[in-house]
Amino acid sequence: MDVKPYWQNYIDGAFCDGGAGRVDIINPGTGQRLAEQALADATDVDRAVQAAKRVHRSGWLTDMRPVERGRIVQAIGRYLLDHADDIAPLLTAEQGKPLWEAHKEIAGAARYFEYYGNQAETLEGRSIPLGAGYFDFTHYEPFGISAQIIPWNFPLEMTARSLSTGLATGNACVVKTPELTPITQYIYAHAAEAVGLPAGAVNILCGWGHEAGAALSGHPDVNQIVFTGSVKTGIAIATAAAANVVPCVLELGGKSAAIVHEDADLEAFETDIRNGIYVNAGQVCSAMSRVIVHQSRHDELVERAVSVAKSLSVGPGAERATAGLNMGAMVSEAQRDRAAAMIADAEAQGAQVATGGRKMNIPGAFLEPTVLTNVTPDMTIAQDEVFGPVLSVMPFKDEAEAMRIANGTDYGLVGGVFTRDLDRATRAAQGIRAGQVFVNEWFAGGVETPFGGYGKSGYGREKGREALMNYVQTKNVAIRVR
Ligand code: NAD
Repeated sequence: MDVKPYWQNYIDGAFCDGGAGRVDIINPGTGQRLAEQALADATDVDRAVQAAKRVHRSGWLTDMRPVERGRIVQAIGRYLLDHADDIAPLLTAEQGKPLWEAHKEIAGAARYFEYYGNQAETLEGRSIPLGAGYFDFTHYEPFGISAQIIPWNFPLEMTARSLSTGLATGNACVVKTPELTPITQYIYAHAAEAVGLPAGAVNILCGWGHEAGAALSGHPDVNQIVFTGSVKTGIAIATAAAANVVPCVLELGGKSAAIVHEDADLEAFETDIRNGIYVNAGQVCSAMSRVIVHQSRHDELVERAVSVAKSLSVGPGAERATAGLNMGAMVSEAQRDRAAAMIADAEAQGAQVATGGRKMNIPGAFLEPTVLTNVTPDMTIAQDEVFGPVLSVMPFKDEAEAMRIANGTDYGLVGGVFTRDLDRATRAAQGIRAGQVFVNEWFAGGVETPFGGYGKSGYGREKGREALMNYVQTKNVAIRVR
């Protein structure tokens, strides 16, 4: 694959260099340098925000009939699909995931534009009776300028999630892309031009979090912020948003647990293990990183988990084009080393490595698919997000204990319960403190289903119709009829 050696930012309809220089983008599947990316500074961020403001003030996005805006949003999704064969190898090269997962991510990104393009014309206000002589109604207006700060794990899908909703509701958008995986984002600049959006409606720029990210989240002309990333950065962003009195959506991390009862179908659960913790090398905020299993099925479940982990062929994503039992690199050697250190620390605290646990002795950022047993709920490994292919298994004696362990972290992104007993499943669905509960299938749901956290996993919702409400403000109009 020939990769362009240098990638620019896209501000006010033009590709440009960055005031903060360049950063090397490393291919984690080979350990080799892939390309360079321009880095924006605060001046670049300001130019992007001013361009977005100009578009917003012009009424270009807000005056048109919503169905027309929806068609533009949908066209971005089709543009992505039309170029999937160009983008997928690049996504694999910068992020590490298997090629088939890269294609899946592009399809998932396109799906956001399809869904929110459809939703554009569904936002309707209501009429409120005020008695004779009055006519009152509400309607929704976009905030204006939406700032969107993106993580590296699903860079195309995460941008799609916020950009599609932002545009569908009539906001001009400034996207701060992740430093590790910025280059495939160029496709959104090309798509914006191809579908006829005016310069400044979509700005795509990469920069350091502490520099460009902070400049964007603290910019006084930004009206709304959507952040997907770590808790620490989320707190910094919420603080910046508060200083400017603007709303923000925080989609943060998780330490999500599946509760597996003694009547669960463990054969089927092997698929949940494969998808829940080893897809994208476990770098998934809603990963099934903990399994809490009834003690009577513990050993069988561990055996099955070990066999799933061992069945995975791990290596460069570019060589893994077909969906199946394989796994690519982690995003960087630093992330891989962090995960490996957490495993070592867990062992020091008494956990046992049932399989995996080591860095692989090949070039690139590879970690063996790992299963840990003898984990207790208070261990660091059971409390902190690894963001890697590491499953912690813990036994429980009764339902109350299972629920206590499941709810025993600061996070609350998703949770799951596996049982044939409907009452038990319903009790768990009610009792699990998380924004989303899966019954008998991890990741059940889709773009249509609202997603977001309880506790330190954040607030606000992305996906589903709920997300639309984070991008608009309600205006009430009360008319005195004389
Ligand atoms: P991160 O918080 O380090 O970075 C995310 C983004 O924030 C990057 O673009 C970064 O440049 C920017 N940033 C960093 N410091 C900043 C600052 N001070 N001000 C403004 N922006 C700043 O997270 P990461 O390591 O890229 O991503 C991994 C984390 O993201 C994990 O914790 C994971 O759980 C979470 N995540 C959550 C979801 C979700 O939907 N809930 C989805 C994907 C990832």
